[in-house]
Amino acid sequence: MFVFHHRHAANVYASGGIERAHLIRSDSAKLRELLSRPDARVVPVWRSRNLVVEDGKTPQPGFLTVEQFQQLFAEIALDPEGSAILLGFAEDKPYFAIDLSLLAEPEIQARIAGLQTSGPPRFADLRDVGPLIGHQPGAILAYARGLTFWHERHKFCGVCGSPTQATEAGHVRRCTNEACKAQHFPRTDPAVIMLVTDGDRVLLGRQKIWPPGQHSILAGFVEPGESLEDAVAREVEEEVGLKVRDIRYQSSQPWPFPASIMLGFTCVADPVEPKVNTDELESARWFTRAEIANCPENDTFRLPRRVSISRRLIEDWAKGA
Ligand SMILES: [Zn+2]
Repeated sequence: MFVFHHRHAANVYASGGIERAHLIRSDSAKLRELLSRPDARVVPVWRSRNLVVEDGKTPQPGFLTVEQFQQLFAEIALDPEGSAILLGFAEDKPYFAIDLSLLAEPEIQARIAGLQTSGPPRFADLRDVGPLIGHQPGAILAYARGLTFWHERHKFCGVCGSPTQATEAGHVRRCTNEACKAQHFPRTDPAVIMLVTDGDRVLLGRQKIWPPGQHSILAGFVEPGESLEDAVAREVEEEVGLKVRDIRYQSSQPWPFPASIMLGFTCVADPVEPKVNTDELESARWFTRAEIANCPENDTFRLPRRVSISRRLIEDWAKGA
């Protein structure tokens, strides 16, 4: 088992203890054998939503046995060389994701209504239920969501335009044009997210489209030909006109909403007023530790969601970590 040596605990959706089983992805016989196991679990995704079961107030991940899946979706083959994506093993159980997006909403609702569960099953946005689901199940749901989204958006070859088909247990899509045969791999877009401090205060901004009062640290996508540190410095300068130094990596978080990984940094700027780029931000200013500690979490001032690496970076700084 992979051991995560870091001074911090893993971020939500990260390091979920999933053994990704690279070496068996091209072994069809092995994949079929895994799908015949009674402990195999199917992770359905419908239009980027994950199946959950409302068990009391706490949503539980909707992991199905192969038998349950086949009862509900008899016409959908769990084909390890097609629709079924091997996620890997968690607690020695094999997990497969499958995308059910082709079913219309009334149809999918009618099917899942047939599940014998402790509460009502539904397809939910992981961004809403993630905070309430355990660490490992949350990581599995995020992984399934990210991979199914990639398949959905890469049905055609970017080189020649022909249809692609899934191979390697859903970890590669290959162009079906014999003259091309280009292989396409799942993509994760790196984004930097950085806590800027002047020593005593932290810089938080807000975008107009966010919920009232919502503030966060700055973030942006890494561009081709740019190091992560370059991206941190560029984004801060673009958004608030500050030059930063002492850029340090803190931790990262898979963020498949739809296809990112957030790379968390801290950095330092001089204690001068930010020049807010209003094309990017509605406002930005320095906040003291006391303001962070006494955040009212209401429509005048609220911090990012607890699952996010931005919240983590802010809280670590506020605690002096
Ligand atoms: Zn092609």
